[in-house]
Amino acid sequence: MLRFAPSPTGDMHIGNLRVAILNHILSKQLNEDLVVRIEDTDKSRNIEGKYQEILKMLELFSIDYKGVVLQSDNIKYHTQMAMQLLIDKKAFNCFCSSEALQKDKDEAKANNKPYRYTNSCTNLSSEALKQINNVPFTVRMKKPKENIKFTDGIKGKFDFSPFDIDSFIILRQDKTSTYNFACSVDDMIFDISTVIRGEDHLSNTPKQIYIRNALGYDKNINYIHLPMILDMQTGKKMSKRDMASSVHKLVDEGYLPVAIANYLVLLGYNPPVEIFTLEEAVSWFDINKISKSNAKFDIDKLKFVNREHIKIMDEMRLSKLIGYADEDIGKLAKIYTQECDTINQIKTKIDIIFSTKKSIDKFQDEYKLIKQCLQNAPFIDDFTKLKEYIIKNTSLKNNQIVMPLRYALTGSITGPTISEIYPHIKNYLGEII
Ligand code: GLU
Repeated sequence: MLRFAPSPTGDMHIGNLRVAILNHILSKQLNEDLVVRIEDTDKSRNIEGKYQEILKMLELFSIDYKGVVLQSDNIKYHTQMAMQLLIDKKAFNCFCSSEALQKDKDEAKANNKPYRYTNSCTNLSSEALKQINNVPFTVRMKKPKENIKFTDGIKGKFDFSPFDIDSFIILRQDKTSTYNFACSVDDMIFDISTVIRGEDHLSNTPKQIYIRNALGYDKNINYIHLPMILDMQTGKKMSKRDMASSVHKLVDEGYLPVAIANYLVLLGYNPPVEIFTLEEAVSWFDINKISKSNAKFDIDKLKFVNREHIKIMDEMRLSKLIGYADEDIGKLAKIYTQECDTINQIKTKIDIIFSTKKSIDKFQDEYKLIKQCLQNAPFIDDFTKLKEYIIKNTSLKNNQIVMPLRYALTGSITGPTISEIYPHIKNYLGEII
């Protein structure tokens, strides 16, 4: 089984979406279920309604998951496992106050050293323990005795020393589990085979492996940590805020989910084809071939991918997306990919075609004549014949009608070739004029 494990602490950002998409692809390839696990144990950071929003986003991107699990529903298992670790003396109660721990951290910082737990409570004698009454405590794992090694599916071999791992907290003072503990136990009880997540979790992985090993679970989980997504302009890691606004923003701006998904699969990957659906990617995608280096978010490339998906879209569907219901309008929309990148930009152009046009200063007289002529014209199938009809009935010359006719038909004096547009709007001439 695979899992996608978002925290309901903010909007879904493109980094999360990429993780979800790749989990979807791998679950199809491995023929294993994908479960959504909402990591909601840190109550102070949860945001009301966020997880439902995340699920809606998964639906929008056609990510196929088997079910949803709230991590907080598993707290009873986390507590049981922590008890077991305490009994086995693999974990210990830590009575250090936050102030004392903060002092140690400040001291380490002042000495330019990484902070590590001072082991004050690691081996308290039973005598000492008897004297501690009503002091709040956390539960910590004992620092491992040996290095923890694993191989990441993209980045290769890792080897973490006990010093790297340290004696870390698994239960907070309120006895809720920390991220590493809850995640590790849940991956175990759900029999997870493959974990795909962002590279920012690399240093958590040895801790999670160590917890499971301490619990006697030795099934190997395949870890795949995705390299970061960098901002194209600054070359810096994209902030969660930028990335969050971008999924909502991109969808709201008229980027198709299928195009966004296509683009996110392309990040750091050299595919056999550039334009594809997720179903198609299932047949050739190899997650281990994702580049080890960070990817750059290139909006121009996304625009290209979006235009290409608009061009191959079902015409009726496309037409409905922009608020019409006619294949011809879908065909017209495709022509506008010559100058538009998004559904919203195309919709604006097409809405202008159907909106009331003001007279235009530059060729006011010609425009009026053409408009009048077209109002009385019969249905004309062919654009050349339409021009001939106007010339004959207005006494205007060919070069006098080009601009005003384009304006009368499209509401704009620039745009795709008018003879290409006409076949798709000829049935609406009455409405347009
Ligand atoms: N809740 C973590 C996050 O949103 C998930 C990490 C994981 O997949 O283990 O980053």
